[in-house]
Amino acid sequence: MNLEVLNFEIRSCARCDLCQGRILAVPGEGPSHAEIMLVGEAPGNEEDRTGRPFIGRAGKLLNLALNQAGLSREEVYITSVIKCRPPKNRKPKVREVRCCLPYLWSQMELINPRLVCLMGNVAIQAVLDMHGVTELHGKIFQNRYLTTFHPAAVLRNRNLMGPFISDLSKLRISKR
Ligand code: URA
Repeated sequence: MNLEVLNFEIRSCARCDLCQGRILAVPGEGPSHAEIMLVGEAPGNEEDRTGRPFIGRAGKLLNLALNQAGLSREEVYITSVIKCRPPKNRKPKVREVRCCLPYLWSQMELINPRLVCLMGNVAIQAVLDMHGVTELHGKIFQNRYLTTFHPAAVLRNRNLMGPFISDLSKLRISKR
């Protein structure tokens, strides 16, 4: 298995009903051996149209926050727990997360990042089975998983931008 084969599998996936409403699945993008991986929730409208992760408003805010944290988008691998857009951007269902999560584990295995940033409750719960980003953000678990807010939550509450940037800046410790 390599990343290209995995991406092909994701693009042609029919494991859950989300495949019926998608235009394009969104496997993720970034260097195939990135030291840092960012994980969001699920593609939105623009991601579904283009097949690229985080290119809408939340993505623009993410790019800005990464730059402020001393990182560039080009050096990180960006993906989401769910690879197909849920209808009307609703929260992914447990069953959908269960179907899609093996793809994320495979991505982690192939890319082998030193740090994985889980952005928002859906990613935190799917990977760590923990709840409550407000209390958890900025912490590193198992020496590998940094928890922080989802960029869309920061869009809705700009007071979170400072803590979001400060959390992301912890990813720079992997650039030794
Ligand atoms: N939100 C996500 O979680 N992922 C995307 O790719 C876009 C928006």
